Amino acid sequence: MSEELRRRMVEDQLVRHGISDRRVLDAMGRVPREAFVPEALASSAYMDGPLSIGGGQTISQPYIVARMLEAAAIAPGDRVLDVGTGSGYAAAVAAEMGATICSIERDAALGEAARARLQALGYDVAVTVGDGTRGLESPAPFDAILVAAAAPTVPEALRAQLAIGGRLVIPVGRTRQGQELRRIARRSATEFDDILLEMVAFVPLIGHEGWPDASGGIG
Ligand code: SAM
Repeated sequence: MSEELRRRMVEDQLVRHGISDRRVLDAMGRVPREAFVPEALASSAYMDGPLSIGGGQTISQPYIVARMLEAAAIAPGDRVLDVGTGSGYAAAVAAEMGATICSIERDAALGEAARARLQALGYDVAVTVGDGTRGLESPAPFDAILVAAAAPTVPEALRAQLAIGGRLVIPVGRTRQGQELRRIARRSATEFDDILLEMVAFVPLIGHEGWPDASGGIG
């Protein structure tokens, strides 16, 4: 049954909205999203939207997860940093794509729950509890960095931890209603290409190079 719901999610929500990377579509067709949401919401796991996962946080809309993974152009063997583990779903999809994933979550309860969930489901993801705006000094540099919460500006630590050729996909903006989803690709030690993908609405990225607290700044 969930296999059929996943197939429909892939066809109706992802392909129909322009996702074409076969590896993203296949990976999302394999990860059981219902295992990443609270039991009471399991029947809504394949609906086209974000869902509450507790602690005031959400698992992102499937389309947005797919859009970010496609924009990050993750290849098997890539070293990927996932900032904002949340439920662990996006990390699991990236792991299904054959990447090596480190994930970082500031909320200890969510981070620990995601670590246990990913392990129980057999996903090899290293989950750290901490401030993802600082990235992870080790094992940086990363081929791709995905940030699932909105920053006021692009954290310098994350730019610095991109490998040459690496891609950072991050929502940036100063209001809660809308932020710019941006893709920043590192061309050289000092040069970056920066493009706007689309407008999105994410929860705030809170930390040293993010917002000061849950209410701070983001309107
Ligand atoms: N990717 C997640 C998933 O698949 O369930 C959804 C992430 S949710 C939209 C955003 C997450 O970012 C929240 O769990 C929040 O606690 C976390 N977060 C916010 N600021 C953070 C920071 N500085 N470092 C790490 N995580 C942060």
